[in-house]
Amino acid sequence: MTKERVFNFSAGPSMLPLEVLQKAGSEITNYKGSGMSVMEMSHRSKVFMDLFDETKADLKRLLDVPDNYHILFLQGGASLQFAMAPMNLMTATGKADYAITGNFSNLAYKEGKKFGVCNVAATTAPANHTYIPAQSELKLDKDASYFYYCANNTIYGTEWKYIPETGSVPIVCDMSSNMMSKPVDVSKYGIIFAGAQKNMAPAGVTLVIVRDDLLGREMPTTPIMMSYKTMVDKDSMHNTPPCYNIYMLGLVLKWLDSLGGLKSMEKIKAEKAKLLYDFLAESSLFKSPVRPDSRSDMNVPFVTGDEALDKRFVKEAEAAGLVNLAGHRTVGGMRASIYNAMPIEGVKALVEFMKDFEVKNK
Ligand SMILES: *Cc1c(COP(=O)(O)O)cnc(C)c1O
Repeated sequence: MTKERVFNFSAGPSMLPLEVLQKAGSEITNYKGSGMSVMEMSHRSKVFMDLFDETKADLKRLLDVPDNYHILFLQGGASLQFAMAPMNLMTATGKADYAITGNFSNLAYKEGKKFGVCNVAATTAPANHTYIPAQSELKLDKDASYFYYCANNTIYGTEWKYIPETGSVPIVCDMSSNMMSKPVDVSKYGIIFAGAQKNMAPAGVTLVIVRDDLLGREMPTTPIMMSYKTMVDKDSMHNTPPCYNIYMLGLVLKWLDSLGGLKSMEKIKAEKAKLLYDFLAESSLFKSPVRPDSRSDMNVPFVTGDEALDKRFVKEAEAAGLVNLAGHRTVGGMRASIYNAMPIEGVKALVEFMKDFEVKNK
């Protein structure tokens, strides 16, 4: 017997809403009477352009994106943005500030250093990235070309609960793992980017939101594919965009809409995270390594303190249909990624399983 569906706690690529998969399945050979799949159609065709424009409009409305911002659907993942942001913005003063709060912001910092002077505004590395620095802990340079941070640290399970105050310095933010989990004040940012495969769509499309006044500053050596201005001028279609992924993103946005948008999602995700964190607080076996004020509502790491027991937990959970609970290979332990598409039933099933495991392994 094969399993119909499991509760998939993967950090990414991760679960998609069942309704979205079913809708995509129903349209796989014939999208809206076109007689073809979205995978097969020209990106210049009217049927695709309608889909593209609607997806952009839905995103703009759901996230309340101001008119002086552009929405781009790019390729290369969030990782390409680690280079694209500096190549486009470093020209202002030749230096930038980075807050290093985990693996991905560190990778961005290393990439940024190829294009200018990158100052460490804060680093939580000495504390193994178990917390988010407060505003007062950020060493900010008022002449920085931009300030960079990662809103949710997928591997370490920490999340910024505030938007840093940087004066006139534009903020570049990696929101790959908490994008569309709550409302965001886009007007506070210069650039927001997010790889889709954590909380929005299959891997292959990267959402970028860029403020209008930051366009046209790229270094002369910037490849044309990496110029925000080119991509804005060409409406993300300097070359063929990731058509099918944009379609999937569109379906996810409709699903978000049907739940009541981002305010509703914020309540739902907070409720799911609370279930898990409340249990961790009372558990005598499992604990969270993250400082309570910095805990992520999307990625929840936990440990027993005994590596062999952690391994057994992951194995037994998998047999019970709770899969991909192993922590990132660099940190070990467990991690439950509970993105938008994880139903509350999945989190309840996990907590029940943990309770049971605890009793049996006292
Ligand atoms: C997964 C992830 C990335 C890397 O994304 P790619 O699309 O694989 O390049 C970057 N930042 C964060 C926060 C992530 O979770």
